[in-house]
Amino acid sequence: MDTQSLLRSLPKVDKLLERADIAALAETHPRSVVTDAIRETVDALRADILSGVLHEVGEDAVVSAVITLVERKGVRSLRRVINATGIVVHTNLGRSRLAPSAVDAVAEVAGSYSTLEYDVESGERGSRHSHVEELICKLTGAEAAMAVNNNASAVLIGLAGLARGKEAIVSRGQLVEIGGSFRVPDVMRESGATMVEVGTTNKTHLSDYEKALTPATGLLLKVHTSNYRVVGFTEEVTLGDLVSLGGQHGIPVMEDQGSGVLVDLRKWGLPYEPTVGESIAAGADAVTCSGDKLLGGPQAGIIAGKWHVIAALKKHPLARAIRLDKMTLAALEATLRLYLDEERAKREIPTLAMLSASKEAMAGRAVRLADEIARACGDAYLVGTAEDVSRAGGGSLPMADIPTVVVAVMPQRMSVTELEARLRCAEPPIVARINADRVLLDPRTLTLGEEAEIVAALAALAGS
Ligand SMILES: *Cc1c(COP(=O)(O)O)cnc(C)c1O
Repeated sequence: MDTQSLLRSLPKVDKLLERADIAALAETHPRSVVTDAIRETVDALRADILSGVLHEVGEDAVVSAVITLVERKGVRSLRRVINATGIVVHTNLGRSRLAPSAVDAVAEVAGSYSTLEYDVESGERGSRHSHVEELICKLTGAEAAMAVNNNASAVLIGLAGLARGKEAIVSRGQLVEIGGSFRVPDVMRESGATMVEVGTTNKTHLSDYEKALTPATGLLLKVHTSNYRVVGFTEEVTLGDLVSLGGQHGIPVMEDQGSGVLVDLRKWGLPYEPTVGESIAAGADAVTCSGDKLLGGPQAGIIAGKWHVIAALKKHPLARAIRLDKMTLAALEATLRLYLDEERAKREIPTLAMLSASKEAMAGRAVRLADEIARACGDAYLVGTAEDVSRAGGGSLPMADIPTVVVAVMPQRMSVTELEARLRCAEPPIVARINADRVLLDPRTLTLGEEAEIVAALAALAGS
């Protein structure tokens, strides 16, 4: 058929809308979505005809393309995925999963009115800070605390509140970039503080800070280097020494602690990380951290510190711009409550439970999962288990190799990259790692229910 006849044979939008199968589609999906999908499909076919790649148009094929497109448009963009990577605080996959009690708390306040800024006893206006302040103080020993949108905004308001128009001294070894373009010098500039760098990349001494002090100094800042380590010939000034120096000159000290560790992780077999409580005990005026990294809660930033510092930050004009909504506050409060009993926190906060699970436990689950895949999928894959390492992720514990056992799936009828891509496009999407000719599935970041979904998805792909 020549191009003009092909173009004339394209079905008309109105005519397609009259078909029973398309009408049925418009019963369950918004009509505008269906008409958009028809137009997009017909436009794409017209382009294919004009570029000479399409030589035949069948109405049924057009309709099935429309149905596929409408169904794709109906899938929520932000939705659940299965994380089989073994990276626990996976930034691109939403960092921490919430504990069941935190999920319940979110659902409760989301669908109802709440005590967000209401004091039931007095019947008067309350403070949204009240829901988490006492808990943070109890868990860290701080005099006062507040929570904001994320740790980046916690650092921003801390710098703006303590050092705007003044100089803030920071070690060159701590001028780091944390994933997703949080750069200490950039945040410093936005806060209105003037950054004064001291020391070198690998070594900074207390005397470096001392020599940089001027009448304009407003803050001594310490930044946890999180995703980055300087090893070898290195020296960093302790927070305690900075606090002494600040004390002698009446200059406050702030620490950006990063991950939000509330418990000494060594008791669960993980590497040592300074806790927020240790920084408070060392005398920091303000300590900031994330809510959704090692703390295991929702995206949030916590600022704990001296009473007068926090009181001023609560009144800072930025506070309103970076305040938390009720759903996040509910999740944060419920997560912090679990920490009142550390063993319960370890059991119920998924991030802590996953990080502290033993290699033996992972081996048992990997063997079972491998067996189930082999049983369900016949000879479509060669399935085995292998020793590997899980990661904390999110820039936390970068040097920690967490021993694990993974399921290794070697596809026999497609390439490994194709299997990985098809798993990603499954519903729900399954995100896995590739190593050489195998797809690796780490049970550490999976629930048992998700393991069953992976078996079903692999079985479906084996049959197709
Ligand atoms: C992660 C991190 C940040 C940024 O925290 P967000 O909660 O992602 O905004 C800032 N500083 C340090 C040291 C970090 O580790």
